[in-house]
Amino acid sequence: QIIPFQNEIKISDLSFAYDNKKPVLQHINLSIPIGASIGIIGRSGSGKSTLINILLGFLYPKEGYISVDDTVVTPDNLQSFRKLIGYVQQDVYVLDATIAENVAFGIPASEIDLSKVEHALKSASMLTFASQLPNGIHTRIGDRGSLLSGGQKQRIGIARAIYSGAKILVFDEATSALDTQTEIEITESIKALSEENITMLIIAHRYTTLKYCNAIIELENGLVKQVHSYDSLSEK
Ligand code: ATP
Ligand code: MG
Repeated sequence: QIIPFQNEIKISDLSFAYDNKKPVLQHINLSIPIGASIGIIGRSGSGKSTLINILLGFLYPKEGYISVDDTVVTPDNLQSFRKLIGYVQQDVYVLDATIAENVAFGIPASEIDLSKVEHALKSASMLTFASQLPNGIHTRIGDRGSLLSGGQKQRIGIARAIYSGAKILVFDEATSALDTQTEIEITESIKALSEENITMLIIAHRYTTLKYCNAIIELENGLVKQVHSYDSLSEK
């Protein structure tokens, strides 16, 4: 089962260190309302991926906690918490299979809920494209998704997370350059997802991706240095 999520996800006085070394995150406090998109920036080593890995349930905080509405995440409910969260990687792994099979990743073809696939594609702003293909969502996307652009592959990743029930999406953007079209497509998806009440955390290296973020958190040496708005950042 999935932890109910109707109001906010909260990070309370969270600190973390790897193997008794110096603290990598110190006293992080963050309240993220449902449907908000939060950008996370900071130089290399500032703790961005560590924070995300705690949110993904891969690392467990040494101090402080995460809570969803009024439920504190503990080792006992970590599995249900994980179901709330979808990780959208830069390089989405795609199968040489149909769009529907790629969205309902790992589910046998006969058990795929097609209306759910369509809903997930719609949320990911991919349904119009998919519907125009010769066999619609049953079109095969080719070896390593050769039929799809970079942005479309990432949208398959978003649709996959939504199909699996995720309400919170985490993007860990690679430092490598994206082509402009992909960047625009992802930025537009983020806007559309926000309108669907999907909550997003985005580690971004390019400011364009942060355009629709409600707040941008700047980490420095494991501390929240400053909270920015997109406008205040883009003026710099
Ligand atoms: P980047 O922009 O390079 O991805 P980041 O902001 O994601 O950096 P983190 O990967 O969270 O930074 O690293 C924060 C600190 O924790 C760094 O000092 C790093 O060396 C250290 N660190 C990261 N992963 C580990 C690990 N598995 N074991 C020990 N120390 C680690
Ligand atoms: Mg990182």
